[in-house]
Amino acid sequence: MIRERAYPVEPWHVRETRLDMDVLAQSESVFALSNGHVGLRGNLDEGEPHGLPGTYLNSFYELRPLPYAEAGFGFPESGQTVVNVTNGKLIRLLVDDEPLDVRYGELLSHERVLDLRAGTLHRELHWRSPAGRDVKVRSTRLVSFTQRAVAAIHYEVEALEGPLRLILQSELVANETLPPQSRDPRVAAVLESPLQAEEELTTDDGGLLIHRTKVSGLRVAAAMAHDVDAPERTTIESEGYEDWVRTTIGCVLKPGQTLRVVKYLTYGWSSRRSLPALRDQVGAALAAARLDGWDGLRREQREYLDEFWDAADVRVEGDPEVQQAVRFGLFHVLQAGARAERRPIAAKGLTGPGYDGHAFWDTEMFVLPVLTYTQPGAVRDALHWRHSTLPQAQERARTLNLAGAAFPWRTIEGPESSAYWPAGTAAFHIAADIADALRRYVLVTGDQALEEEIGLELLVETARLWRSLGHHDRTGRFHIDGVTGPDEYTAVKNDNVYTNLMAQRNLLTAADWAMRRRDQAQDLGVTEEEAAAWRDAASAMHLPYDPEIQVHGQVEGFTRLQEWDFEHTPPEKYPLLLHYPYFDLYRKQVVKQADLVLAMHWRGDAFTGPEKMRNFLYYERRTVRDSSLSACTQAVMAAEVGHPELAHRYLREAALMDLHDLNENTRDGVHMASLAGAWIALVAGFGGLRDHDGTLSFSPRLSSRLSRLEFSLQWRGMRLRVDVRPHQTTYSLRNGVPDTVVELRHHGEPIRITAAQPVTVPVPPTHPSGPQPEQPPGRAPLLHLPENLT
Ligand code: BGC
Repeated sequence: MIRERAYPVEPWHVRETRLDMDVLAQSESVFALSNGHVGLRGNLDEGEPHGLPGTYLNSFYELRPLPYAEAGFGFPESGQTVVNVTNGKLIRLLVDDEPLDVRYGELLSHERVLDLRAGTLHRELHWRSPAGRDVKVRSTRLVSFTQRAVAAIHYEVEALEGPLRLILQSELVANETLPPQSRDPRVAAVLESPLQAEEELTTDDGGLLIHRTKVSGLRVAAAMAHDVDAPERTTIESEGYEDWVRTTIGCVLKPGQTLRVVKYLTYGWSSRRSLPALRDQVGAALAAARLDGWDGLRREQREYLDEFWDAADVRVEGDPEVQQAVRFGLFHVLQAGARAERRPIAAKGLTGPGYDGHAFWDTEMFVLPVLTYTQPGAVRDALHWRHSTLPQAQERARTLNLAGAAFPWRTIEGPESSAYWPAGTAAFHIAADIADALRRYVLVTGDQALEEEIGLELLVETARLWRSLGHHDRTGRFHIDGVTGPDEYTAVKNDNVYTNLMAQRNLLTAADWAMRRRDQAQDLGVTEEEAAAWRDAASAMHLPYDPEIQVHGQVEGFTRLQEWDFEHTPPEKYPLLLHYPYFDLYRKQVVKQADLVLAMHWRGDAFTGPEKMRNFLYYERRTVRDSSLSACTQAVMAAEVGHPELAHRYLREAALMDLHDLNENTRDGVHMASLAGAWIALVAGFGGLRDHDGTLSFSPRLSSRLSRLEFSLQWRGMRLRVDVRPHQTTYSLRNGVPDTVVELRHHGEPIRITAAQPVTVPVPPTHPSGPQPEQPPGRAPLLHLPENLT
């Protein structure tokens, strides 16, 4: 964990002022650039030293066998693993005859800056070679939001003395050797030389490599070209071999002179397209990038981000660290989804190989709610991706003897890639999570076309799954048995409240949409009886409740299980999954991550206020947060049940997860759900946003440290701005036709706003909140409230 503040607090930048080799891999994830299609880890230009080299293309994977000591029917046989593709970031520099390597000679200064408005990673260093020759290097890197196949690097070397002979070697390298990985199940499988060479080609100022994976048979092409600008005569030549292509640029600089090189880098991959087609594609992308030139690419990047921030920015006064972190989080969430275009958004985005590059429910329940209100086009694409995997989900349901569609717990391209049933396939709630993301997207955007094109079918197929997975008992109650909810320390149990409530909404929304689109529903084979059966199941849904202690069991019987012995669980035994057998975790009251508490957020309409308070206190004492998908939800519910200071601490944990490397595994990639969680904790926590019943409602209330929170939401093509102060909130509307009226609720009271008329309303005083919530010993939120404020 980075205990001291690694990055100074600045509102729009993440700046590293010195190179710390101990946290190199972590900084590579923090400084990763991506547009959702191409992802480049923040590796140093010269490639070495590195923590973990990484270049990823969305959905470019290799298959590997999933071996079982004891196989079982329906176990997936192979898994998909993200591939580290051809590295095009490499630019090595020789100063006279010594390679620039920060481990040798003297590094007089080194700074890297991720600029959240420019969308670039800038690096400046002053290096003295072992022979005492001084150079300054400045490099700026971007992965284009506007041209999705394109990345570019602007690289400058300034001679501080001279004459200096500079040789710059710019490369494409396939099959890099990767460092060995630990046995932690959360990291990725290492694939050895996964790429087979198909073609290499060089031109004067660049070249390309085409490779193919051995088993999945996917083809990848990477190409590069260079513009060189030097005051003196330069030489440039390229050479190519199976796994690498190199362009070498040479020149001699006098003191004060600068060599400038722009490296254009393009990627393409396909499972179907021929080698010549792919070759042409990356060639064309290079031509397009060069047409814009470096300045053009940079300008477009800035314009794209200006537009994004105008719609999505969150302003926080009173906690500058959170201000920086929420923007950093939004930036990474945007990077993960912006140009994913009908491909998945993985748990780590394209910032590292963690979890094998798989997408989980993190996408639908954490990332998509944020994007729905800030960049809805990316959500439309992500839903299309899920829909494109429907045939595989239907097939999987058939294998499991179920109706409808059983979506995979973890996957890249659609098939179930989880080899562990209890925390994989049994987590059926993914189906309802997808349905809810879809419902929210249609509600917020009013996109009827998507509802018609893919929406109804997804809802029908997920509703069918629930109807066949659950059953009515002899009294008529509907149960969903033998499933795993969000808490992975409680597995394969009956009636998980979160699952049941989300399935209930899934069933009801499917029935409503089917009635709204009768003809289309008929084509999907939905009869009146089937829709009625969905409603019956929903209205008879069983929710475990313990009347004696008046709390909900997160699953049936949970509250009577043996308590976990927290007193005798020392700090070094966390995360528990790495130190205790699952059988023990499963049979005791210990919660990995918000589960019932998560149900109270997304299905808050199903609980009364007092129930929420009692449940929150109960689960707070048993939740260890061994998953980064917990703190933000605990922030949201702590705020709702009247513990704003605790909410603020959880907000800080979610927001600073990667900037402080709180879970000590940011090296494998950033925690996309937690980064999205910073926005969720602020907007749903302190802003109190809910969208349960088709209306937006807010219950804003700040913690004592915050003096202001301002955020924007996209709503039906308009921009709704919410400006929360300690005692009042102002709602205003932009981009709306003048007489459009938007009806909202503020602390339960209806209000109407128009573009012409912002509305300012008082924030009611907080009620006494009852007993102070307690966490298991040693499991309080990891970060304290900001110190410099009272
Ligand atoms: C969590 C899951 C999550 C996965 C990927 C696990 O540790 O328990 O809820 O989907 O990580 O982020």
